[in-house]
Amino acid sequence: MGPVKRICCIGAGYVGGPTCSVIAQMCPEIAVTVVDVNEERIQAWNSDQLPIFEPGLQEVVEAQRGINLFFSTDIDKAVREADIIFISVNTPTKTFGLGKGRAADLKYIEACARRIAQVATGYKIVVEKSTVPVRAAESIQRIFSANTKSDLSFQVLSNPEFLAEGTAISDLKNPDRVLIGGDETPEGQRAIETLSSIYVRWVPKTRIITTNTWSSELSKLAANAFLAQRISSINSISALCEVTGADVEEVAHAIGTDQRIGNRFLQASVGFGGSCFQKDVLNLVYLCEALNLPEVAQYWQQVIELNEYQRRRFAARIVSCLFNTVTDKKIALLGFAFKKDTGDTRESSSIHISKYLMDEGARLHIYDPKVKKEQIMQDLSHSTASAEHLLGPHTSAPHTTPL
Ligand code: ADP
Repeated sequence: MGPVKRICCIGAGYVGGPTCSVIAQMCPEIAVTVVDVNEERIQAWNSDQLPIFEPGLQEVVEAQRGINLFFSTDIDKAVREADIIFISVNTPTKTFGLGKGRAADLKYIEACARRIAQVATGYKIVVEKSTVPVRAAESIQRIFSANTKSDLSFQVLSNPEFLAEGTAISDLKNPDRVLIGGDETPEGQRAIETLSSIYVRWVPKTRIITTNTWSSELSKLAANAFLAQRISSINSISALCEVTGADVEEVAHAIGTDQRIGNRFLQASVGFGGSCFQKDVLNLVYLCEALNLPEVAQYWQQVIELNEYQRRRFAARIVSCLFNTVTDKKIALLGFAFKKDTGDTRESSSIHISKYLMDEGARLHIYDPKVKKEQIMQDLSHSTASAEHLLGPHTSAPHTTPL
């Protein structure tokens, strides 16, 4: 395979959009096309109002769009022309059947694989960027093998994305590491080389880690599980602090100075949110159960349970501080996304806490500068009560002073 000329990315979401924008900026001679089935999303990527907010993203998109960065709904054309195809579609938790509520649903990934097998010709490197259960690459590979035409050959690589929402652009420009997993065959190694040749333009070689496919897939799940576990660990200590009179911030500082522990990710909070941590830990739990490792499954399951406990505990504490009833009391919630510098509300702790308080009859006033009112309404729509005043980013209202 000669030098990479065209990259296609299927899925224009939180992962695909920022990742490809940065690749386009770093590789001016490569044409990068991001495609999606969602027309509205693609239109938004082509407008001044990008569908997602990330600090610095708008600038990168504006600099490259129309030059070597394109957003399109013509999936087949982009797939046909590409040398490398990234798959960065969503892998939600299954809501039905075997593994319901825990296993990842691979239907979108498989749909992409089938589409690629149908329309592509020549040699393609297919890169799994979405977080997937271990051995997903194998099932993609199998789809290709079953569909393969004589004029199509391919290699499947795992290249999980470690960006954190809210700091995606700086994470992408200066990653701690890039992980690429592939087959241990000569063809697999050559495909790894080709993908590495993209990243080496801005990432020091020492930070590019290559492994076998399964190690790469598992590393992504393990990294998120470790991060989630740290939050649950400090949150568990916060419960203890509250009943003993210790101060969790002082404890976090004191233990964080130990270099073996480190000082990051030690802030006690209302529990972790976001589309990844819970999903990935549940996925790991399911994997362990399926592989007959019940003790390991239970260990990680506890990280989730502690998180749910922390959310309940936080809401219950509000109720008890307000003399054991919040009925008809006006409560302001500042911030609704799952963390700062993002508009993403998926699995946000704010949703759980709001619902808990609404069930208790509280009158909520919610404000988040990055979240639209409609999104908040949708996230809370399954609750029995309703939020009365929801203030979106462009609503001026008296409830915006930080507490
Ligand atoms: P993530 O946070 O993993 O990036 P998102 O939900 O933000 O997930 O983005 C995934 C995107 O993938 C969505 O915009 C969705 O429309 C798109 N998508 C899902 N399935 C397909 C498919 N078969 N072909 C093209 N795009 C798809």
